[in-house]
Amino acid sequence: MIRKLLHRVFKRKPSASVSASTASGTRLHIIPRKQHGISRNHISPCALKVTAELQQAGYSAFVVGGAVRDLLLGLEPKDYDVATNATPEDVRAVFRRSRIIGRRFRLVHVMCGAETVEVSTFRGNSSPDEDEGAAAKKHADEHGRLLRDNVFGSQEEDAVRRDFTVNALFYDPANEEIWDYLNGYDDIKAKRLRIIGDPLLRYREDPVRMLRAVRLAAKLEMQVDAASAAPIGDLAPLLRNVPPSRLFDEMLKLLLSGHALACVVDLRARGLHHGLLPMLDVILEQPLGERFITLALKNTDERVRQEKPVSPGFLFAALLWHEVLAQWNSRQAAGEKPMLALQQAMDDVLAVQDKELAIPRRYDAIMQEIWVMQPRFLGRGGRRPFRLLEHPRFRAAYDFMLLRCESGEMDAELGQWWETFQRVSAGEREAMLLKDEVPKKRRKRRRRPEAVTDAGASPDSSDADAVIS
Ligand code: ATP
Ligand code: MG
Repeated sequence: MIRKLLHRVFKRKPSASVSASTASGTRLHIIPRKQHGISRNHISPCALKVTAELQQAGYSAFVVGGAVRDLLLGLEPKDYDVATNATPEDVRAVFRRSRIIGRRFRLVHVMCGAETVEVSTFRGNSSPDEDEGAAAKKHADEHGRLLRDNVFGSQEEDAVRRDFTVNALFYDPANEEIWDYLNGYDDIKAKRLRIIGDPLLRYREDPVRMLRAVRLAAKLEMQVDAASAAPIGDLAPLLRNVPPSRLFDEMLKLLLSGHALACVVDLRARGLHHGLLPMLDVILEQPLGERFITLALKNTDERVRQEKPVSPGFLFAALLWHEVLAQWNSRQAAGEKPMLALQQAMDDVLAVQDKELAIPRRYDAIMQEIWVMQPRFLGRGGRRPFRLLEHPRFRAAYDFMLLRCESGEMDAELGQWWETFQRVSAGEREAMLLKDEVPKKRRKRRRRPEAVTDAGASPDSSDADAVIS
C-alpha cells in the first residue's frame, strides 16, 4: 500500500530512491535495483519461491535481515529469512512442506528440497519505555530484559524491533526494491554498525545484542558507532541474567564465525569476557594459555574460511585445556596418580562449565577423549604409538598436541616425531621407536607420583592405557 501511495505521489517507477514519512515518524526509503544492484537472481530459489507464493496468496513478503545485509556487502548469505504480514497459520496453509516451530516466538520453516527458509510474521516491540506501568512489567524482567516479543505488528514496527539498522532492510524480489525504514542502507555503505533506538534500553532488553555487536562488527568489518558502543562496558554484567543455553548458542556462533580471534580480542577490550567465558578470565592472563588459545582460535578461523569442517568439541577442549592442566598439576602435586588426577581435573572443569556456559553434555565425550589421549603421545616405545595411531580420535588428539607444541607448552620435537611417524613406512616406524621405552609390565610397587610439568604425565605410565581402554 505504502509503495502504491509513493508511486502515485511520485507518478513514476522510481529509478532513484523515494522516501516518505511514516505514521510513527521514521522515514521509509525505497531503493530501486539500479541503485543497490541486487537482482532477484542473487536470491536463493527457496526464498524466491516463498516470497512469490505468499505474494500470490495476497500477503506482503520480503527477504529480511542478514541475507539482505550480506548481499549488499558482497558476502554470501548463510541462510534466508522472510518476513510477512501472514500469520504462522496463514503461512502454514500456503506451503505443504512447512511446519510451525517455537512456542514463545512462533515461526514457520518452509522446506524446498534441502533448503529451509525461516518465515516470521511482522512483530511489534513492547519496549518498556513506552509504558512504565503494568504492560511493560509483564514483558520484561527487573533489569529490563524482554521476556516476550511475540506481538504481531506492522512492517515498520518489525524493522524497529530488530537489533541493528543494517539488519533491518527488506528486499522484495518481485520488483527488486529495498525498503529501508532506519537508514540501514547508508550505514552499510558507511560500514557503520548502529543499534536501533536507545542503546541503553536495547541492550537491557536483550544483553545478547552486545555479543552480536562484537560478532557482526568483526564479520562485516564494520565499526560499532560511538553511541552504540558507549554503554557496553557498563552493561556487561547483564549477560549474567541471560539463560546459559542462549549464551552458549551465541558464543558458538561467535567462535565459528571465521573471526573468532578478532571477536575474543574485542570482547576483552570491551570488558565483555568476564564471567562469560570463565576460562578466558584466567587463561588470557597467562602467557602460555594466551598463546595456546590464540593459536587454537586462529586455526579454527582458517579452517572456517577454507570451508573445512570444524569441531566445536575440539575448540572447547582447547579453550578449557589450561584450566584442566592447572588442576591436573595441582592434583598431582598433592600426590594423586597422573591419570586419575587427569580424570578428576577433567570432571571438575566440565562440571563448572556445564553450569556457567552450559556447554551441552554432548561435547563432553570428545573433549575428554582429546584430553585423555595427550599423555599417550609421550609413549614412543613398544606398541604404544601403533595403538594410538589406530584410535578413532587420533587425528583430533594429534592436532591438539601440535597446538601444545606450537604454543611452547610441549617440546616441538615431539610434534615432529609424530608427524614423521605417520608419514613413513612400517620398517622406518620400527626404527623410530625409542629404545629406552620398552613397554613395562604393570608394576606392583607404588611409585611416588611426580608432579606433571608442562611436558605432561610420565610417558611410561601404565595407568594411561588402563584409564583409556
Ligand atoms: P548471521 O545469520 O549472519 O549470523 P543474522 O543477522 O542473520 O546474522 P540471525 O541470528 O540469523 O542473525 O537473525 C536474523 C535477524 O533477526 C537479524 O538480522 C536481525 O534482524 C534479527 N535479530 C536477531 N537477533 C536479534 C536480537 N537479539 N534482537 C533483535 N533482533 C534480532
Ligand atoms: Mg541469519
